[in-house]
Amino acid sequence: MKNIYAIGIGLIGGSLAIDIKKNNPDVIIHGISRKQSTLDEALSLNLIDKKATLDDLGNADLVIVSIPVDATVKLLPTILDKISDNGLVVDAGSTKLDICKAVENHPKRRNFLAMHPIAGTEHSGPSAAISGLFQGKTNIVCEVEKTTFKLQEKALKLFSDIGMRIRYMNPEAHDKHIAYVSHLSHISAFMLGKTVIDKERNERDIFDMAGSGFASTVRLAKSSPEMWTPIFKQNKTNVIETLEEYISNLTHFKELMKSDDFDAIFNEMKNTNHIKDILNGIS
Ligand code: NAP
Repeated sequence: MKNIYAIGIGLIGGSLAIDIKKNNPDVIIHGISRKQSTLDEALSLNLIDKKATLDDLGNADLVIVSIPVDATVKLLPTILDKISDNGLVVDAGSTKLDICKAVENHPKRRNFLAMHPIAGTEHSGPSAAISGLFQGKTNIVCEVEKTTFKLQEKALKLFSDIGMRIRYMNPEAHDKHIAYVSHLSHISAFMLGKTVIDKERNERDIFDMAGSGFASTVRLAKSSPEMWTPIFKQNKTNVIETLEEYISNLTHFKELMKSDDFDAIFNEMKNTNHIKDILNGIS
């Protein structure tokens, strides 16, 4: 692989670019973004070697698409139109069903691999990109059988070289499960943050009293609304289902409090401590 094009060079695109370049110093990373200022920043941070445009994609061995999921759905068919017969396109979007559907009948569908690297932080933009973000993390690959075998192999080697383990899933199952373990956590953090901000108008008080428990629970509320709104829109049905279950658990907890049933509250927490065993080894 010689020419890699990163469309979107924020947290995910930038972090992938850093680690791929580290493992493959001869590769040229070309950056494509909407804003010139983003490209300039990516260049000055050495995330990319050169600026490029969509019209250059015929030269690409690999295109990595790391832009918001609504933009991916719109742009992916055009990207596939422009690549050569041997070019591979991968996307890193946090939803998979709408993205896979957008290109299901595209003549170059076999040049596309749908994936979701389960790694990230609450920060965004080129300055958020870091080395080692994907080490030991899972990369969910969807509909692998729809990608040409040779291109699959190339992609899987590249991502396993940066420390990722691969998990295969269909797009429906991906979107259903990810609604619980990622999308609900973000909504919960956003609404916890809102609840405290609304109540504590004096932000200085929050800052003084917020212990590390609050800070770590609310961390995801710093995430980018530009990235998360389209995710919730694309995964609306699954997200609403998770919210209904979550709200019902919150309501149950409130009822136990109201009825002074602290034995039941103790047991609820004791049973949920099991999360320690489930998450053991996941950082
Ligand atoms: P990010 O840091 O905000 O970077 C987004 C990039 O997309 C920027 O280069 C931005 O360029 C570009 N962009 C924004 N809106 C666009 C639009 N409407 N059309 C075209 N380009 C646009 O976001 P990120 O965290 O890297 O997320 C990128 C993708 O990875 C998303 O699909 C997300 O779902 C997925 N993902 C995120 C995480 C996470 O934890 N953050 C984890 C796994 C997967 P300009 O500045 O030039 O607009």
